[in-house]
Amino acid sequence: MNLLVQGGRVIDPSQGIDEVLDILVENGAVKEVGKGLKAPAGVETIDASGKIVTPGLIDMHVHLRDPGLEYKEDIVSGSKAAAAGGFTSVACMPNTKPVNDNKAVSTYIIAKAKAEGLVNVFPIGSITQGSHGERLSEMGELKESGCVAVSDDGRPVINSELMRRALEYAKGMGIMVISHAEDLTLVGEGVMNEGFVSTELGLKGIPWAAEDAATSRDVYLAEFTGSPLHIAHVSTKGSLRIIRNAKARGVQVTCETAPHYFSLTDDAVRGYDTNAKMNPPLRTADDVAAVKEALKDGTIDAIATDHAPHHLDEKDVEFNEALNGIIGLETSLPLSLRLVEEGVLTLPALVEKMACNPAKILGINRGTLKAGAVADITVIDPSAEWTVEADKLASKSKNSPFLGWSVKGAAAYTIVGGRVVYKR
Ligand SMILES: [Zn+2]
Repeated sequence: MNLLVQGGRVIDPSQGIDEVLDILVENGAVKEVGKGLKAPAGVETIDASGKIVTPGLIDMHVHLRDPGLEYKEDIVSGSKAAAAGGFTSVACMPNTKPVNDNKAVSTYIIAKAKAEGLVNVFPIGSITQGSHGERLSEMGELKESGCVAVSDDGRPVINSELMRRALEYAKGMGIMVISHAEDLTLVGEGVMNEGFVSTELGLKGIPWAAEDAATSRDVYLAEFTGSPLHIAHVSTKGSLRIIRNAKARGVQVTCETAPHYFSLTDDAVRGYDTNAKMNPPLRTADDVAAVKEALKDGTIDAIATDHAPHHLDEKDVEFNEALNGIIGLETSLPLSLRLVEEGVLTLPALVEKMACNPAKILGINRGTLKAGAVADITVIDPSAEWTVEADKLASKSKNSPFLGWSVKGAAAYTIVGGRVVYKR
């Protein structure tokens, strides 16, 4: 729990720091950030020269599949994947079996993560009981038992009146609502983005309007109720325009995108690769450009992975039958670092979206290296070159469209509460 991280380029946007410095950790907390710090006798030193040192990365949108779907992933394997990807904290969605709509499930997740996990796991409770979209969950109970937000992720809350009540209720409770914005009637039987490629492949399409219409409704409900709202996995140009306009008029809306939405287009579906099937679907080059623009101008607050493990048997089927989703924890960092190489984001801006802003949105005391803060630290080797290979991934599931990709950048050390939980 005592540690000296020496000579790395420390980037901590929460204090406006971008300088080669040392970090002294004592009893699991940051003691001091400064120049020429000396390690007290017996304290382990990490040589971070040539590396980037940031507040521990936070993935605010993962599916750990535990309880109930442990054949895909569990809290232990998911937290190993998180640590290997440089994440010190994850927030897990409630669509487990049973759904996390009560204290028992939240308590189980927190206890198991504490006992056996490597990283901090913050549960997200459901908006409605069982995520069935009929009756609101007991948000007070969820918050009290440690949930950092509520979401029916995987499904939208179809009933607009119920979504209004959810926003009002959550505001009173001081808990964030995360919207999975999707109009299911427009999605119909679609399995990929509707457009040129879907026509060519003969697959049923999902129009961008399915996302934009739902985003629009939820943004207006946030404005009407005066409640904060976070929109998950934004993938379309139109949704970003709606969110940008709403922010400009003071609506308390934040949003995230995922690495696949700025790294791939619906072209990846050619060859009927089921690892390119996710929800929302991969969009067009125009949408990818809009996502990058929105990352740059701050419309997009956070990068989250939507890490969605599935067993090979659930992906090794016809495209129409395959389940939606891909894993993302171990590829997010190198894919996101490409944004810096491309000049879309500066490194400090990237750290804001991968550490500081997720902490702010969820209201958790992380995302900073201020003296006294919990010593969650990520040491990044920006020049590490590696190939994404299924048998080297810590996640139980291997459903990634990035298998075989040569990437650059990796976590060199992942430090949680002053303890090294991953070393490359
Ligand atoms: Zn979702």
